[in-house]
Amino acid sequence: MADLDMSLQFLKGVGPARYEILQKLGLNTVEDILNYFPRDYEDRGNYKKICELIDGETTAIKAIVKTNVSEQRIRRNMAIYKVIAEDGTGNIILTWFNQPYIKKQLCVGEEYSFYGKVKNTLGRIEIQSPVFEKAEASKNTGKIIPIYPLTAGITQNVFRGIVELAVKSSLEEVQESMPNWILDKYRLPSFKWAMQNIHFPEKLEDFEKARKRIAFDELLTMQLALLRFKEKGNEDRDGISFSIDENVDELLNTLPYKLTNAQMRVWKEIDKDMRSSKSMNRLVQGDVGSGKTAVATLAMFKAVKNGYQAAMMAPTAILARQHYEGISKMLAPFNMNVELLTSDITKKNKALVLERLKNGEIDILIGTHALLEENVEFKNAGLVITDEQHRFGVRQRSVLSAKGNLTDTLVMTATPIPRTLAIILYGDLDISIIDELPPGRQKIDTYAVKRNMDERINAFINKELNAGRQAYIVCPLVEESEHMEGVKSVVEQFEYYKKVLANYKVEMLHGKMKPKDKDDIMQRFKQGEINAIISTTVIEVGVDVPNSTLMIIENAERFGLAQLHQLRGRVGRGKHKSYCVLKYEGNSDIVKQRMEIMQKSNDGFVISEKDLELRGPGEFFGTRQHGIPEFRVANLFTDIPIMKVAQEIANRIIEEDPRLEKPENTILLNGINKLFEEKISI
Ligand code: ADP
Ligand code: MG
Repeated sequence: MADLDMSLQFLKGVGPARYEILQKLGLNTVEDILNYFPRDYEDRGNYKKICELIDGETTAIKAIVKTNVSEQRIRRNMAIYKVIAEDGTGNIILTWFNQPYIKKQLCVGEEYSFYGKVKNTLGRIEIQSPVFEKAEASKNTGKIIPIYPLTAGITQNVFRGIVELAVKSSLEEVQESMPNWILDKYRLPSFKWAMQNIHFPEKLEDFEKARKRIAFDELLTMQLALLRFKEKGNEDRDGISFSIDENVDELLNTLPYKLTNAQMRVWKEIDKDMRSSKSMNRLVQGDVGSGKTAVATLAMFKAVKNGYQAAMMAPTAILARQHYEGISKMLAPFNMNVELLTSDITKKNKALVLERLKNGEIDILIGTHALLEENVEFKNAGLVITDEQHRFGVRQRSVLSAKGNLTDTLVMTATPIPRTLAIILYGDLDISIIDELPPGRQKIDTYAVKRNMDERINAFINKELNAGRQAYIVCPLVEESEHMEGVKSVVEQFEYYKKVLANYKVEMLHGKMKPKDKDDIMQRFKQGEINAIISTTVIEVGVDVPNSTLMIIENAERFGLAQLHQLRGRVGRGKHKSYCVLKYEGNSDIVKQRMEIMQKSNDGFVISEKDLELRGPGEFFGTRQHGIPEFRVANLFTDIPIMKVAQEIANRIIEEDPRLEKPENTILLNGINKLFEEKISI
């Protein structure tokens, strides 16, 4: 019997060289091995008859070798080894490349198990490079074989041997992770059984059952952790009670429009949080153009009227400046000091801003990541807002909140995500949804087109510019890249469109430019001096230029749907009819489906559900999305049914035992604590 924390170097068969390789895989102890799950399985136990074999299937057979191994040199460094075998129902050719030792390993008249991919060309049945062993052995064939994610220097067979030994010697030590009452109620197998069967299932159903059990563990623990986190927040997060509120109407009355019902409802929710003596921790989700900024401004206005400072952080300098200008204008009648802080202001100005912020002379500070720097100190921040939260990490959000004492926190996002996922991603937040667009918004006509339409599209752009409108042309790359042939870059397309739109002022915009130059171009675009911008996705979030009516996207197949939707949201913001043209390459079904969804739907929620469905959560969120828990087996998309059950159970448990103090829940509390140690150390 081996302890779970026993070092692998003491395991039989693991010498110093192998130990080193295992360490490279992040495996140090026996427990690490138990937790290192297969990436796939091969069913080498389900023998088929040779006469039943189908072209293309990967399968196992048992057959007797009929001929000696023949060797055929086809090139100087390439030899083919061949035998014929039969099982009474037919003959099969077995082939290996450059493996002379095969000659010694196969004997005529002996029966072997073979496993590999079948090729059936006009009745000539063949398996190339099959795995094999004597029929009576059952080490590498004859059963379901787990396949592990490995690195060079160790084979599947050797690694599997190590796992086998680790499981055999320490399975007894594995502790149950769920209370009995849950196991009984939901008829779940024990954790021990699941661990055995995730590695070495006898039947494929067993593997699936084991996987589900472990996925359930992961999802329930995560749910509980998030609820617990939230609960704890509510317990010990005394906040500011912003009680003066009659003045907010003044601001509402000076706005050039009436809030939509949805904006009003969400504002009421925020207002209630702000008045309460607990601190606010709220997420506002609203499709592009739903008017989140106005709602955020109301909240900042209220905070300032109550004698506090407020801050708002945006992911790009362009957006920060736009907010600064828009919000300054909205608040102009109210004698509030609004300032902008991005990393590209001069040192001298920055020092001045920081000084005034600390004195309390600045009421509202708007900026980029620059707000997170240590030397940004407020006199008394009462409210912090993060715009386009999906561009930031959880950690950045909390750094900003920590700038004040007991601050209220509001985060906003236009990436609508299905609720089940929202709970996982933003589990510690209350959620408000602005599910209505301001009246009079026109539907943006969307066309997905191939290269052969270039001429017509170019004529169309010219026509729109001629009518006084403006256009965005978005490319996936900044510069040409030899690694991505055929993918359009800003630099190259800039040259192209300068010719195509010869009568107009065209500029480019991308992340490698100096912030000042970017700002300058954006300003001139806003003022109408520039007619078309060739840009990367730096303009993706938030940019608001109502006179732009055309969004052309090059290589649209390279963007996520949610991102395309965001990009499209840059037009259709004014009174003019707007268009989005998706220029795409490729004929795959997925690409076509994605383009079709974009043409059909203008609803961010629908689009993101589809995106998630087509791409899976990993790509959907991209690697930059921090704060998404990584699961070992649970899949945030395909395991939604398990997640729902887990959410239900978690809610019930926390309701009955908010601090998980009951003895039967200790085991769950331990699991959560472990999770926090490992993963969510925010
Ligand atoms: P987002 O939710 O994408 O951040 P914005 O706050 O940028 O949206 O608002 C988009 C545009 O809609 C802005 O030009 C804003 O002035 C305008 N707007 C916001 N609320 C309303 C409303 N209730 N009625 C009309 N226009 C509105
Ligand atoms: Mg916005």
